[in-house]
Amino acid sequence: MHKLALDGGTPVRTKDNFLVFGAPVIEEPEIEAVVACMRRRWIGAGPKVREFEEEFKKWKGSQHAIALNSCTAALHLSMLAAGIGPGDEVITSPMTFCATVNAIIHSGATPVLADCDRHTMNILPDEIENKVSARTKAIMPVHFAGRCCDMQAIMDIARQYDLLVIEDCAHAVESRFHNQNAGRFGDIGCFSFYVTKNIITGEGGMIITDNDRFTEKIKVLGLHGMSKDAWKRFSDEGYKHYHVVQAGYKYNMTDMQAVIGICQLQRVNQYWQLRERIWRQYNDAFAKQPCILPPEPEPDTQHAYHLYTPLIDIEKTGKSRDWVLHALTAENIGVGVHYIPVHLHPYYRKMFGWQKGDFPNAEWIGERTLSLPLSAGLSEKDADDVIEAFHKVLVN
Ligand SMILES: *Cc1c(COP(=O)(O)O)cnc(C)c1O
Repeated sequence: MHKLALDGGTPVRTKDNFLVFGAPVIEEPEIEAVVACMRRRWIGAGPKVREFEEEFKKWKGSQHAIALNSCTAALHLSMLAAGIGPGDEVITSPMTFCATVNAIIHSGATPVLADCDRHTMNILPDEIENKVSARTKAIMPVHFAGRCCDMQAIMDIARQYDLLVIEDCAHAVESRFHNQNAGRFGDIGCFSFYVTKNIITGEGGMIITDNDRFTEKIKVLGLHGMSKDAWKRFSDEGYKHYHVVQAGYKYNMTDMQAVIGICQLQRVNQYWQLRERIWRQYNDAFAKQPCILPPEPEPDTQHAYHLYTPLIDIEKTGKSRDWVLHALTAENIGVGVHYIPVHLHPYYRKMFGWQKGDFPNAEWIGERTLSLPLSAGLSEKDADDVIEAFHKVLVN
């Protein structure tokens, strides 16, 4: 076996060919669409945002789709629209991005964590039920890596205790569970089009819901709290006065972002197939490696293949996850970690008294997990390099 780059050996890829983790695919049509948008000079929120919302909601089969400038904003406004605030509790997973928990905090509510499963990495329904209190208002499941949570069990709990369900679908734009799209189980689904996500608008997010009242509130809150359709005030429909009816937020998407999303949405299945192929290629190649592979998708579900997250078998290899991260980076392979469990970050420890030992499954994952590049933009050679480097680093 070749000497590790970490020990002065030749890296699998050259430095100037570093494989960036989570690089998006950007093609000619979206480049042209952005240029055309600039030439039209209507670059703020406008008709292209409406078009993107229409396309998205048709695809998802929801009554409404509201485009915003991030999934974080989507999660935040979902809670405000649902009337969640101070004194309320929202249950979510410790195995998520900080934005999930921050959105709960910004609504004024208190985040309550329920541990996840070691293999699916998704929140456990039994743990949710253990955390339900008189203050609980909502469950916020996160479909980790694109694998749907057990939505049947979660919806049963929600109905039993009369809780709202707001799905964090940041990883799950293509996910399905028992013939239903992720984001369509609960009251509201929130999606992300951040640069590393499956389809991108640079920054961007989308809410889907069937609830008319929530939709109305989200539209007002997302644009300064101005009365309905204030974005049209400079259009050729004639000047209309707006009325500020609430202290809202500046959370709208712009036409420049929406035109990218419209193009990307047309390729969502094509990109999904490319990632599925790489995901399977990795699973086959690593079957005999000292690591724990992501489990196969459950029957009657569609995995979105957003992240490929093997767990390092620390006991068998005697190698820490952090060492593997450094060794792979030295081979010029970009890596990610999804996630250091939320409860271990200093701010939340201080604010909520969370500590090590509180969520043993999330911590077990947090010590072992790493994410290998999984983008529709990877060539076969790129994927082969990842396989070679991971193998080299694990067995050396
Ligand atoms: C990316 C991400 C978010 C936040 O999405 P933004 O669009 O960047 O605000 C929220 N939750 C999860 C699980 C994410 O991965």
